Amino acid sequence: MQECRYDEDEIYRRLCKIIAPDRISNNPAELYCSSRDASYIKTAHPPFSVIRPSSSSEVSEILKVAHEMKVPVTPRGAATGLTGGAVPLHGGIVLDMTGMDQVIEIDHENMQVLLEPGVIHAGLNEALFEYGLFFPPDPGSSEMCTIGGMIANDASGMRSVKYGTTSSYVLGLEVVLPTGEIVNTGSRCFKTSSGYDLKRLFVGSEGTLGIVTRARLRLRALPESRYLVLASFETLDGAGSGVVEVLKSGILPSACEILDEVAIAAIGLGEKPLIIFELDGMEDEAEIAALKVIEVCEGLGAECRIVESESEQAEIWDKRRMIGVVITRHKEGSVRVYESEDVILPIKNVVRMLREIERISEKFGIEIITYGHIGDGNLHTAMAIDVQDESEWERLFKMSEEIYTTALKLGGSITGEHGVGVIRASYLKKEHPGSLELMRTIKRAIDPTGIMNPGKMGL
Ligand SMILES: Cc1cc2nc3c(=O)[nH]c(=O)nc-3n(C[C@H](O)[C@H](O)[C@H](O)COP(=O)(O)OP(=O)(O)OC[C@H]3O[C@@H](n4cnc5c(N)ncnc54)[C@H](O)[C@@H]3O)c2cc1C
Repeated sequence: MQECRYDEDEIYRRLCKIIAPDRISNNPAELYCSSRDASYIKTAHPPFSVIRPSSSSEVSEILKVAHEMKVPVTPRGAATGLTGGAVPLHGGIVLDMTGMDQVIEIDHENMQVLLEPGVIHAGLNEALFEYGLFFPPDPGSSEMCTIGGMIANDASGMRSVKYGTTSSYVLGLEVVLPTGEIVNTGSRCFKTSSGYDLKRLFVGSEGTLGIVTRARLRLRALPESRYLVLASFETLDGAGSGVVEVLKSGILPSACEILDEVAIAAIGLGEKPLIIFELDGMEDEAEIAALKVIEVCEGLGAECRIVESESEQAEIWDKRRMIGVVITRHKEGSVRVYESEDVILPIKNVVRMLREIERISEKFGIEIITYGHIGDGNLHTAMAIDVQDESEWERLFKMSEEIYTTALKLGGSITGEHGVGVIRASYLKKEHPGSLELMRTIKRAIDPTGIMNPGKMGL
């Protein structure tokens, strides 16, 4: 962003005229807590104010002041992001959106919901249950993350293999631009060819183009039935081949997760590399699909078990969701960190990538624990190091670089769902050498003073 100097006291005085005193803070403890997200990224410039707005018009007034006085603004949801996206790299104001958490209207007849960005993902699906509806994107952080954060990162998760990512469900957005102007994008219709698809521009823009203050989301009917098939393979790439064969056989699982032997042992579900297939739909349809998955996997030498009980299914998913946390402590006594990469590959190259991950782990002498949404080609590679040892960090960053470079060589992308943020900012040019300039032009057009979440996405 442009070099800027501002008088914090003067800005604080102006903000106090817009916001009730209990929703604006310059308490050092709160400023400190608002300086981090779930990644290792730190900022040298803590914010001078954390504001919890309660309406779009308040957000608009705050941004008018910030724009006029060239103050950086970092939007923040639940801060479960894994890339430093909500970390205020240049200080300024943190806009904590968790206070705007109302489900405004469940329009069940039109299978859509209008809500504020601070609604928590799991809470939304609980509210939708009585209508037989659900919002399918299903991140591991469901109990914590906000819909605004999901929209900003185009988050997805377990069920994207069948149901797609957050962007597939955004019908319309209200966004406050960095100048304070409030714009409405999209419509109530399931599709439209009317004009530029501006809502899509904001999905995945990681808070660099404006603040999402309302969203209209499309919903789906809950399936009548769900089955899990647990398929244990002798090797990790054997498990990857199993997934490719299942997809090629014409079955579309609603979820398809890979867990290597360390990940699976950490959550107590076995010892060999495992694929969790979820099949959903009408009762007969789901059962037939589950039996077909078993046939394909057993044909490849896997041992399979079907899980019908809803409570056991829920238990397995709960364990799967906690994997990133559990593996940080899988070796007793040592202080270990989990930095999970998020590469995604065209499905044919997933097996090659799994082999490359094993090679890279051996080359750098750092254990990699692999899991992820393999049905999409999305792999998380968690790297375990001793956080106290600087040299291990150096090796970790070099190893990350090789994972990104290898994924790009295999036709993949640097991130399937976690986003770019700070951690992957330097790789955006490598992936999009021909279009990064256009992204920067769009950023400058919408945010001429560069106040919106500066330092993110390499923009
Ligand atoms: C245990 C764990 C499991 C996870 N599993 C998954 C997974 O399976 N799939 C997945 O996709 N992600 C996963 N994540 C990552 C993370 O939860 C998602 O990226 C989530 O969408 C972030 O939501 P949040 O509310 O925490 O956003 P934050 O971390 O607060 O912010 C994320 C980004 O959104 C911007 N932002 C937030 N609110 C707004 C708004 N209203 N308007 C504009 N910009 C905004 C921020 O500036 C930032 O750039 C996981 C994280 C953890 C810790």
